[in-house]
Amino acid sequence: METGTYLGGCLCGNIRFRARGTPENPHTCSCENCRRHSGAPTLCWVEFPREAIDWTGEGGMPTLYRSSDYSSRSFCPACGSTLGAVDDRTGHCAGHRQL
Ligand SMILES: [Zn+2]
Ligand SMILES: [Zn+2]
Repeated sequence: METGTYLGGCLCGNIRFRARGTPENPHTCSCENCRRHSGAPTLCWVEFPREAIDWTGEGGMPTLYRSSDYSSRSFCPACGSTLGAVDDRTGHCAGHRQL
């Protein structure tokens, strides 16, 4: 995937982000957590180091929900949009939005 600046955010605009660099580990996932988190049958993911992401919207960082012993899922507290996951072990943020 291409190195660059990727913008995205939630449905209501409260949470916005800017990710810089090269999206890592592009993959899809249809696990139970991904399906329940999104309401979709499959999610598309890319990953960035935590320090490569700036939360630029009024709402700052998304709210985290502890979803497993190694990761948290993030969402907007205002509109409920799913915004990705934060993995403890790698310190990576994973996003499944079209960035
Ligand atoms: Zn929102
Ligand atoms: Zn999954």
